[in-house]
Amino acid sequence: MASILGLTAFFAAIVVLARAYRNRSRDGNKELGATPRRPIAISSFRDIDDTLGNQSCACGGDFRLLGEGPSVDAPDVRFARLECSHCDRERIIYFEISATS
Ligand SMILES: [Zn+2]
Repeated sequence: MASILGLTAFFAAIVVLARAYRNRSRDGNKELGATPRRPIAISSFRDIDDTLGNQSCACGGDFRLLGEGPSVDAPDVRFARLECSHCDRERIIYFEISATS
């Protein structure tokens, strides 16, 4: 019985480690601001406008802002949802706002 519990705990630990590795790999390969776990740190809300103004789509088109709001995944993270005016590709950029005044 003890070996069954030990084996179950062992496999549970492997699943937890595999998920942590997968999440780290997935977010680690993403550009800064591409996920709530890798937000762009800002010191002022004006930094959001500046960052959004510098974005362009891979097709060469300009992004327009569709919406902005708080992230449900992290309390100090806001997101901005953009859409390319040329190819309609959507992009979401996340911002860490805990240092804003
Ligand atoms: Zn585009």
